[in-house]
Amino acid sequence: MEAKIFFGSQAATKDTFNERKSPYNGEVVSKSPICDAGDATKALDIAQEAAKGTKLSTLSQRCNWLLDVVSKLKETKEDIAKTITDEVGKPIAFARVEVDRCIETLTLSAETMRTMHGETINTDAMPSGKKTLALFRREPAGVVVAITPFNFPLNLVAHKLGPALVAGNAVVLKPTPEAPLTAYKFAKLFIESEYAIKDALSVVYGDAEVGSALITSDIPRVISFTGSVPVGNIITKNAGIKKVGLELGGNAATFIEKTADLKLAAQRCALGAFVNSGQVCISLQRIYVDDAVYDEFAALMAEETKKLKVGSPYEDETFMGPLIDDDACERAMNWVESAIEEGAQPMLPPHREGRLFYPCVMTEVHDDMAIVCEEVFAPIVSLVRVNGFDDALPRMNNSPYGLQFSVFTNDLSITNRAIDELDAGGIVINDMPTLRFDIQPYGGVKLSGVGREGPRFAIEEMTEIKSIVIA
Ligand code: NAD
Repeated sequence: MEAKIFFGSQAATKDTFNERKSPYNGEVVSKSPICDAGDATKALDIAQEAAKGTKLSTLSQRCNWLLDVVSKLKETKEDIAKTITDEVGKPIAFARVEVDRCIETLTLSAETMRTMHGETINTDAMPSGKKTLALFRREPAGVVVAITPFNFPLNLVAHKLGPALVAGNAVVLKPTPEAPLTAYKFAKLFIESEYAIKDALSVVYGDAEVGSALITSDIPRVISFTGSVPVGNIITKNAGIKKVGLELGGNAATFIEKTADLKLAAQRCALGAFVNSGQVCISLQRIYVDDAVYDEFAALMAEETKKLKVGSPYEDETFMGPLIDDDACERAMNWVESAIEEGAQPMLPPHREGRLFYPCVMTEVHDDMAIVCEEVFAPIVSLVRVNGFDDALPRMNNSPYGLQFSVFTNDLSITNRAIDELDAGGIVINDMPTLRFDIQPYGGVKLSGVGREGPRFAIEEMTEIKSIVIA
């Protein structure tokens, strides 16, 4: 099925198309028009005009708009979930979870905006001040450009469209080239809604050329980007004077302290390392384990990992489907093989069938091996033996990334130290670092990004504060 461009509310197409093939079986699953920089500019011009209307629209209409999309999503849940599975190979059970999360993200965006009030300011608190009516309120920023990655092709779009539209902005979306039909089906629900604001949402397809035209234009006031560090760097260097929110990569770590519930830790670590075949920005990649419990934990981890079913993403019981493409498989296998050559020991040997990459647990690794210090974005996890938290802490922090970390412990002093001393945007105690509730502020420090998402925090980034005095 063909994805259509949306120049505002007007659907359009082109003469040439990209075919999207299933990462699992290579069948053509969708096609999308090949857009160019001119299409990006056209969409931005329409959005600039539309932003005048979105600014004047009522919050009530915009909340109804999102909630109408929510009700349509509930009706079309199975179809959208299947499209996610077709385009990116996500196991169907997890694709359904993604639709549920998208429903929650949009609902929360509407609920949050309804109650985001401005404040009055006591200007007579200043010695030089006087009694006035002074206040501030939030206004839409104008045009928001949203650029999204492949690994959550629906919910990460929702994390941008929900906050941006309910706050009264116009949006130009450029979704991942890997899942154009998922984005199109989602956008169509917005555009066909009876509450839609005319031309408030545009969708164009493509990769660097279209993305670059969107970010370098003077029209958008906000760029909201989720993706890799290299592209984040390009955006930072080229965006000019506008707000830029960057949700980038990570290499999440956990520490298993000797008082931890090891069985629980192994269950949650297996989930955190291998869900979505490790293609999650907060995928658990490094497990630092106290020497006193290392062998017991390693055995439990291997046991939990063996339970995970790898196979067709179309089967309900499948836990892990294919990686996104051959390059991802080859990069992951090369990194595992060079780690083994340098002395690392696989507890479960690396194994690949086509793009199905089986979960791989590595021991005897060094901190400078690529599987430890790079973002692997594949189902490979490393177990590192350490002597207590003082040994684990600098090694966990010794990373250019800082998205999320976790610690498993029943020692309150370690809990307190982890919260204080781990250098990341999010700290989780007694669960995997892969835990994300969509209501939370979410984002990283260091190379993992700039700014925070989660509806309330994204709305803050996609609005401007206007300060008012009635003297
Ligand atoms: P990617 O950076 O390759 O692509 C992301 C988007 O950027 C795509 O839409 C792509 O077409 C676009 N793009 C490419 N070149 C561009 C350019 N020059 N200008 C503007 N846009 C351009 O990322 P990916 O492979 O789709 O996703 C995986 C990466 O995303 C991983 O690094 C992962 O950690 C990260 N990620 C981060 C989060 C987070 O919330 N922090 C969430 C999911 C994924």
